[in-house]
Amino acid sequence: MKIFVPKESAEGESRVAASPDTIKKLTGRGAEIIVETGAGAKSRITDAAFEEAGAKIGDRSDAGSADVVLKVRRPTGDELSAYKSGAVVIAIMDPYGQDEALNAMAEAGILAFAMELMPRITRAQVMDVLSSQANLAGYRAVVDASHEFDRAFPMMMTAAGTVPAARVFVMGVGVAGLQAIATAKRLGAVVTATDVRPATKEQVESLGAKFVAVEDEEFKAAETSGGYAKEMSKEYQQKQAELVAKHIAKQDIVITTALIPGRPAPKLVSKDMVASMRPGSLLVDLAVERGGNVEGSRAGEIVEAGPARIIGYTNVSGRVSASASLLYAKNLSAFVETMLDKETGALAIDFDDELVKATLLTREGKVVHQNFGGAKA
Ligand code: NAD
Repeated sequence: MKIFVPKESAEGESRVAASPDTIKKLTGRGAEIIVETGAGAKSRITDAAFEEAGAKIGDRSDAGSADVVLKVRRPTGDELSAYKSGAVVIAIMDPYGQDEALNAMAEAGILAFAMELMPRITRAQVMDVLSSQANLAGYRAVVDASHEFDRAFPMMMTAAGTVPAARVFVMGVGVAGLQAIATAKRLGAVVTATDVRPATKEQVESLGAKFVAVEDEEFKAAETSGGYAKEMSKEYQQKQAELVAKHIAKQDIVITTALIPGRPAPKLVSKDMVASMRPGSLLVDLAVERGGNVEGSRAGEIVEAGPARIIGYTNVSGRVSASASLLYAKNLSAFVETMLDKETGALAIDFDDELVKATLLTREGKVVHQNFGGAKA
């Protein structure tokens, strides 16, 4: 079985879909792996390090003979046309609202797998790219904020006077939000957080932060069986917005991470709330690529918004590229290993496996995933 790992072509993408560790693991299972020259450069992995681990260094033309292509981003049209029909292509496919791209992958005859659709079950924890990447994004959001902030995070009592601790408010307490809370606490900030899922209250408090939310009956029932957020009623959103508005006016830094799977990000911070902040305040909108939680945020930009600035960096985990690649590569290799025959190491995909069913987007020329028009599994 031949695996190809390309250099990512998307602008600004600094991650790579393999690491020396995963190369060792997969070659140990009998795979031949070709890594495109320079693929790891932005993640500080040299060609020599890949070679030492057992890979061959090749170029783009090696894509055509690969049985499996490991990528970070969904393949472009050019990349698709290079793959052989029947090739397995695994990446973060970003499939929602991308019908054209899905059809193109189907037409190319590939088996396209979307890592972000991996079920969050115990067996697949090691393959959970949403967690591995969100964790780093949450960390980096705080580091980015501290870099842009003109004040100190911790309280400092000096002979020349006292610097107050920064007040950080985290909105959305999933994987990214929890890491943002922990990082801001480590830097000495006074941290508060909110979420619509009641289970997060205890998690916030266990990190030493304070929970801020309207805790009515709707709130108490607001969690899907999968552990994700539900879209809340207009009435709840109104009450919560009033509470949040008062709170935000007193914050130095707001970090938003709120997402609802398959839907645009909920708008949580209005223009008026931004305008109510103190001069020099910052907002970091980690949901900017899904439409944003903060009114006025723009993908890839730092927007001046009255007294505050809104940081809208995209691909934030990629801003910690070496760590992000290490974890992402491990997520991928663990998934690939489930597709290999235990004895021969040959590709042997079990199409009844729940991991395959949950992540397979296209097969034999068709979009097969039920979320995107495919038949129900
Ligand atoms: P996510 O990225 O989908 O969303 C981030 C957070 O935003 C969530 O906590 C969500 O509740 C919150 N949110 C949505 N709308 C909001 C609103 N209007 N106001 C405030 N907050 C809002 O979340 P995630 O990080 O992927 O985590 C989602 C769930 O998955 C959690 O329950 C988490 O514990 C669980 N999880 C399970 C596993 C596993 O079992 N393997 C791994 C990771 C996460």
